[in-house]
Amino acid sequence: MKLDFIDLKSQYAALKTSINQRMQRVLDHGHYIMGPEVQELEFALAQRVGAVHCITVSSGTEALLIALMALDLQPGDEVITTPFTFAATAEMIVLRGGKPVYVDIEPDTCLINAALIEAKITPRTRAIMPVGLYGQVADMDTVNAIAARHGLAVIEDAAQSFGATFQGQQSCNLSTLACTSFFPSKPLGCYGDGGAIFTNDAQLAKACREIRVHGQSARYTHTRIGVGGRMDTLQCAVVLAKLERFDWELQRRADIGARYGQLLADSNNDSGITLLTVRPDRDCVWAQYTVFVNHRADVQARLLAQGVPTAVHYPKPLHLQPAYAADCCPECCPQSVIAGQRVMSLPMSADLTEAQQDHVVAALLKAVRTK
Ligand SMILES: *Cc1c(COP(=O)(O)O)cnc(C)c1O
Repeated sequence: MKLDFIDLKSQYAALKTSINQRMQRVLDHGHYIMGPEVQELEFALAQRVGAVHCITVSSGTEALLIALMALDLQPGDEVITTPFTFAATAEMIVLRGGKPVYVDIEPDTCLINAALIEAKITPRTRAIMPVGLYGQVADMDTVNAIAARHGLAVIEDAAQSFGATFQGQQSCNLSTLACTSFFPSKPLGCYGDGGAIFTNDAQLAKACREIRVHGQSARYTHTRIGVGGRMDTLQCAVVLAKLERFDWELQRRADIGARYGQLLADSNNDSGITLLTVRPDRDCVWAQYTVFVNHRADVQARLLAQGVPTAVHYPKPLHLQPAYAADCCPECCPQSVIAGQRVMSLPMSADLTEAQQDHVVAALLKAVRTK
């Protein structure tokens, strides 16, 4: 049995009629930029998460950039975030001249350790940027309380957590601004690049909308500096089609995640596999189904030989990356370093069958027990 790491082909097969029809409609009406599907998607997404404003943008990275620009982040301003994330999180802070200030993760969830945030606040701190890594939202209660005490903005990097919940509330509606991604392999993906920003603040929403189109407040009236950051009408059409069975997919992801947990917990004692913790007040969308293993490179090679591809999100935390290391000591985030050495993501998608999952688990147990 040979598996895909993420099975987008089965998803397309299931949604083919709708995706094709919606894309054909765009080709027929010809409004490739800012066509009617853009507004339709923004309305649908805002409704879904319960936020007042949704602004679609050209990628998750661009969403972070535009959010930081809307907050008017100034050179030298500090943004507190996690080093255990995809580079884009910190990259956009640095691109704006800001300084990412790294706070280590909780070892069992790999999410920012909110208890360590307050000690890192300085007079230059402007915002806190927690990341919903692997599809689980960080401790937003604590993050928001700290932000409120110190007058800081909170930007949720929800690129991996669209559809997740925190105390019953949707990811993307938990903070000042939230940014998500529709990169094909994310929980809600398009067929190229796309993303969205969410906020309940009318002024920030207006700023994001203007920045998205070169800072225009009206046609050819450039009120501020912006970017070319629109999401294509065609990509919006794809996401609209994918929303049709997204609730079903979320349920599948929850079930598959729970089943991985059961199958692997049964063998936990002698296998050296440790499961990720999901906090009881949250629903995880399992953007990645990630576990901790020892001798990871060997285990990955043995899995691949059995037709099971794996991935590592992420091997080296940002504070140890050449481009980001400048202001951080190598010892500052030890849990992120340890996690980087042990995390391994298994095949996960809504269309993963029980037989495929059984194969993954059997192959994994065989791989970790091989001496
Ligand atoms: C994917 C991802 C991004 C960037 O999204 P793109 O759409 O690929 O630009 C940012 N942050 C995190 C945590 C991500 O996983």
